[in-house]
Amino acid sequence: MKIRREVLEFEPYRVLEGNYRIWLDKNENPFDVPLEIKEEIFWKLRALEFNRYPHITSLPLREKLAEFLGFDVNNIAVGNGSDELINYLVRMFEGKYIITTPPTFGMYSFYSKLYGIPIVEIPLDEDFHINGDEIAEKSRDALAVFIASPNNPTGNLQPEEEILKVVETGVPVVVDEAYVEFAGKSLLDKVLEYPNLILLRTFSKAFGLAAIRAGYMVASDEVINAIYRIKSPFSVSSVTMIIAETLLDHYEVVEERVKFIVAERERMFRELRDYAYPSDANFLLIKLDAYEYLLSKGIVVRKLSGRLSGHIRVTIGRRDENDEVISALKEFAGDNGVGGF
Ligand SMILES: *Cc1c(COP(=O)(O)O)cnc(C)c1O
Repeated sequence: MKIRREVLEFEPYRVLEGNYRIWLDKNENPFDVPLEIKEEIFWKLRALEFNRYPHITSLPLREKLAEFLGFDVNNIAVGNGSDELINYLVRMFEGKYIITTPPTFGMYSFYSKLYGIPIVEIPLDEDFHINGDEIAEKSRDALAVFIASPNNPTGNLQPEEEILKVVETGVPVVVDEAYVEFAGKSLLDKVLEYPNLILLRTFSKAFGLAAIRAGYMVASDEVINAIYRIKSPFSVSSVTMIIAETLLDHYEVVEERVKFIVAERERMFRELRDYAYPSDANFLLIKLDAYEYLLSKGIVVRKLSGRLSGHIRVTIGRRDENDEVISALKEFAGDNGVGGF
């Protein structure tokens, strides 16, 4: 037996495990699904025939999403988390390399590396914005361009006109809108205009369903048709579909929580404005090297590296959790005598 060299050299995706009090490292929703909605889900699961495979193209959930978004089902694909869809998107189009815009979400290069696809990095500017002209210029032989908006880990939306400069070239552009509900701004109304514009979304953040693994994309029927040619037929389970569909039926609960999280984000930003960057997502990028300090207090956040070394990414949590972070970070900044910006 011989395992491929690329696999042995692969850096696996790691997260901290252990007994800590406050988990603000994965941009999860701090609120579980309310018990009444869980009860409704349990009743539906009772009636589910566990011996049967799920629908082969996840039609029940796609129909629900089509109604929710005001789109046709032929413009929607669902995956086992949006990660599964990224896994296909890096292999679907003709071209020589993918383009990413670091610092950004790691999964675009994760899957590309696995398949030996070259990665061309066009870094964000000092305000963490993309340069649409530069990406457009370098996209001639690209198989796809990946842009997260709002971006993870910087938190900011990308200017629509910069994204559209890239889209106008005709190269496939995947706009990852994992945090769109916290931003209130989307490119959804442009999807039917551009067959090469692909929006990626997830149930893991605003919907609070990280455990169930559901993501979706909205794109032209040409792209959706292509993805269903190559997608693992039964990767989205019936249980996942039932839970996601039920949350779409109760979107008012999602909206209410998003509102709370956005209000908490703005409160934390005001409290920490000497160190925090503005955010359109459910987390804050903070210019403090406080990872170990917070961990010693039982608070887990994301430690960043490379261009963002010395920074941390803090998920917005419940009010008491946020209060603890605010006072710990003020204490840390005071003790360290760091000036911030
Ligand atoms: C969290 C996140 C996702 C969601 O991934 P899932 O596989 O759907 O849980 C996608 N893109 C970005 C940028 C994210 O931060």
